[in-house]
Amino acid sequence: MKNTIAIHRIDHVRAEVDKCAHFGFCTAVCPTYVLDGDEHDSPRGRIALAKEMLAHDGPPSALAVKHLDRCLSCLSCETTCAAGVSYREIIDGARQHIEASGVRPLPQRALRSLVARTLTTPALLRPAVALATRLPGVAARMPGPLGALAGLARAPGLAALKGRSAAPPVRNDAPPQRRVALLSGCAQSVLGAEINDAALRLLARAGIHVQPTPAGLCCGALDLHMGRRKPAVRHMLKLVRTLDAALAEGRIDAVLATTSGCMSVMQHYDEVLSDHPERREAGARVKHATRDVTQFAQELALAPTGAAAGLIVSYHDACSLNHGLRLKRPPRQALRDAGLQVRDIAEAHLCCGSAGTYNILQPEISERLGRRKAMHAANASPDVIAAGNMGCLVQMSRYTDVPVAHTVQLLDWATGGPAPRGLEHYVPRAVVAEEAPAVPETANVTADAGDSFW
Ligand code: SF4
Ligand code: SF4
Repeated sequence: MKNTIAIHRIDHVRAEVDKCAHFGFCTAVCPTYVLDGDEHDSPRGRIALAKEMLAHDGPPSALAVKHLDRCLSCLSCETTCAAGVSYREIIDGARQHIEASGVRPLPQRALRSLVARTLTTPALLRPAVALATRLPGVAARMPGPLGALAGLARAPGLAALKGRSAAPPVRNDAPPQRRVALLSGCAQSVLGAEINDAALRLLARAGIHVQPTPAGLCCGALDLHMGRRKPAVRHMLKLVRTLDAALAEGRIDAVLATTSGCMSVMQHYDEVLSDHPERREAGARVKHATRDVTQFAQELALAPTGAAAGLIVSYHDACSLNHGLRLKRPPRQALRDAGLQVRDIAEAHLCCGSAGTYNILQPEISERLGRRKAMHAANASPDVIAAGNMGCLVQMSRYTDVPVAHTVQLLDWATGGPAPRGLEHYVPRAVVAEEAPAVPETANVTADAGDSFW
């Protein structure tokens, strides 16, 4: 079998593989190894499988496919590795090799392709979610990943996130302080509309002119993590073209994300797009312009209204924020600055099992991790479980009755927005020492919707 990824990239992946010194610090922080103690399901074991697979011309072994498929791409191993192994590049390269080898049976390939297409295409995802919600019996009988997708569509957390809340403010009565694009996301534009609305309100309240990207513009992360490089790069090129043009023309000066999974992949756009020299620089510009919304929110200094004062938050570190972007402090600090109490949870470094399409493609391991994470989060006796990534919230909501909310929803509520679902009857616990000045919902507000801008 010929090499299935470009020679310069396969050489780079092999070089990363060779950096591994096998001392195994990473095993203790790997969720799949922690569950069952199987060396093949540890980072070190997977690196050995990838090394063997990339060294031979034949098709990948069933053993390699099984255990590389079971990796969550959570990157907990990468942030622990003292030898500086870029595990991200190894697992992405290995998966591209597996996909391109054609070793998967046709029905499996077709289902994987359908899952990826459905999740990244709002026009397909919307009716799929409606079907799964209205006809749960039919949806549950769908084969493998489609049945799992249908199960997810009925998760309590999703019901709380996908409805539209109060419309974002749209007055343009003051010059904007900044102009930013807000990534709407492909799946999030359908499944997490409340999150995007909360971000729009929060930013607009601070006098930021916000331009949501058109629904369906995808960052490519989902396809990339499935080893589907071609569709991933297609998505990336489209998003880079759109954002870079707006940056170059001065229509925006930053790109903000409430989807940490997208942002963590965007931080490697220049490298992933290295086969497209004409777009590589544009990818680097977009990368440098992109920030997590909670990081940005810290600079806004919005005054809390007291509505959410004293709220106890179990804060879950989404792997993409924690390991991918290494952003642990800003979201916690933003919540504390807004008058909320933040509690860390046990095993904070371990993935909740959501991990993009993992909860669809590996439902059994995903459920065990989800139950474990939800239990630890609930043990902190919180009013709400918060995270910076929609997938984690949906995942944990399946295994706990505690309400879930995105960090930006809590920040929006604390500074004048509506309470997230499940928290409408919250009575502020702490008396705010000095009454914060009321922030009128429409003061100095500029936010646009609609695709014409792009
Ligand atoms: S910690 Fe790093 S060098 Fe050590 S086994 Fe894990 S990946 Fe290899
Ligand atoms: S990315 Fe996560 S699941 Fe995969 S080997 Fe590393 S720690 Fe384990």
